[in-house]
Amino acid sequence: MNARSRLFLTLGLAVVLPALALIFVTFQHVKSIQRDKKVEALIHRDFQYVLTIGAKKMASKAYGMTEEVRNAFPSVDDSDDVKRKKLDEIVQKNPWFTHVFLYDAKKGIVLEPQRAVMDEKEADESGKMYSAWFNLEGAYLCGQLRRKPKPIMWMPGESQRANGLVYTTTAIFSFPELDRDRIVLGGASFDPKYLKEKFFPQLLEELTSQSFTEDPEQLHEQSFLQLMPKAAIEHPDQKLAMIVYPADALKSEPDRPMAMSAGWGSGKPEVSYKLDDPFRGLALGIKFQGTTAQAISRRWVWQSFLILGVLSVLMIGGLVLTYRSVNKQVALARLKSDFVSNVSHELRTPLALIRLYAETLELGRITTREKKNEYYSIIRKESERLSALINNILDFSRIEAGAKEYDFRETDIAELVRNTLDSYRYQIEQQGFALEEQIDPGIPSVKVDREAIARALVNLVNNALKYSDNEKFLGVRLYREQSVLKLEVSDRGIGIERNEQSRIFEKFYRTCDPLVHNTKGSGLGLSLVRHITRAHGGDVEVESTPGRGSKFTLSLPLANPSTT
Ligand code: ADP
Repeated sequence: MNARSRLFLTLGLAVVLPALALIFVTFQHVKSIQRDKKVEALIHRDFQYVLTIGAKKMASKAYGMTEEVRNAFPSVDDSDDVKRKKLDEIVQKNPWFTHVFLYDAKKGIVLEPQRAVMDEKEADESGKMYSAWFNLEGAYLCGQLRRKPKPIMWMPGESQRANGLVYTTTAIFSFPELDRDRIVLGGASFDPKYLKEKFFPQLLEELTSQSFTEDPEQLHEQSFLQLMPKAAIEHPDQKLAMIVYPADALKSEPDRPMAMSAGWGSGKPEVSYKLDDPFRGLALGIKFQGTTAQAISRRWVWQSFLILGVLSVLMIGGLVLTYRSVNKQVALARLKSDFVSNVSHELRTPLALIRLYAETLELGRITTREKKNEYYSIIRKESERLSALINNILDFSRIEAGAKEYDFRETDIAELVRNTLDSYRYQIEQQGFALEEQIDPGIPSVKVDREAIARALVNLVNNALKYSDNEKFLGVRLYREQSVLKLEVSDRGIGIERNEQSRIFEKFYRTCDPLVHNTKGSGLGLSLVRHITRAHGGDVEVESTPGRGSKFTLSLPLANPSTT
């Protein structure tokens, strides 16, 4: 198994599969939340909870008010006048009751009205009505009351008044401290106006002013708070709105609301709760101000999908990057190992040749002068090749280690190019190349590292010689273009494919042309050339057409060469 397929396997098994599984599972999870309307259900459950609390608060407030009044009631054995006086005090102190009364089976009823809302005649009628009823059922009611934890019962209901149907509730209570056989009942009736304008609005305001977030302890353990992203519930839209309305309108939009909290607007409650005593016949409704649980749920699901999507894209991006970088490392490792085998071959061949020819000469078997000269030149050429290669490798390792230093000196670059070519002229011509040398006159001197520039030129010339087959031509041009000095090396050789033109400057990179394959090389030359020209503040470019030849151009700025 090679490194690449191992990489595929590791990435696949260790990263991609679990990641995909995770994405899939989360996706399904969010979908199931969406399908089962879980968020909505949780919100509704919390609504239900707030309603229950609300109903309890209402009831306990009504009970509390009634108990307070009952405790202030006169004794049944007081005289009618005392009773009347005390009841009158009660009515004065508790303006929210329309009337209070005390009934005794033996002595009859004393009823004290709230004079602002009930006149004498009305009071009289009510008194008679209560008397008639208690005369019939007083004993039964007392028995019932005795069985309750709190001896209070309620008579809620709507009644027709001048201004239409009004709702009120009346408390009827007994006095457990009296003897069992005494039939005594007290009562207090709430003012419908007070209920509608004060009692319910105040409680609704109290209930809605605490938003879900402010009082999470009150909510169930597994509330939607835990499920929803915090930002979603802290939205100002999510204030509660509540309403109290006749329970018979439960299914439709409440048309005669008793009271509603600020921000109710209009519309149906999302969840409603039928109130029991003391306010039987009424219902308590709740919803969000300006939004619905469904909308919140939808938004939550949408947000979850969005986050999931972004995470997936990030993860896939990360995977692609990882894959590419590992792939690059693998390719580099392969290039390096190719390099080592190429270089060792490159070192061995010239050494073997030098040894062979030197030994032959030593043995003195070669007699003709020409032959001898030929052998000498081979030895010289091979040692030149060897030192060029070693120079390249040394330079390369210095560059890699960041230790390459350049020695910039004022140089007559025209002469430098001429001299370098001169020392190669023989080799060039020997290989059958036509050398066209074109050095413009009047090139100013520049500050360069002579050795480095010469090495760059040698590398380019060597490449031109190596990668030409049919037409053997080598052109070298030195000219000035405004403030840039250009050194051009061109050939009419095999050329370089477009997509490879940028890559040939990478270290160890060699094209896949068969001629390149059969020619020894290290893939270092051009990367050195680029490094050298960049160190001089310039750059190197290539123009090439496969099969037609290549032209490498070094650009060196005339002014201010970088001194790195
Ligand atoms: P080497 O010549 O040792 O392989 P280089 O870094 O000098 O390494 O060159 C990199 C590659 O660029 C070469 O292997 C070859 O494929 C391509 N190349 C360089 N110069 C030429 C050229 N003049 N013509 C065609 N291809 C070239």
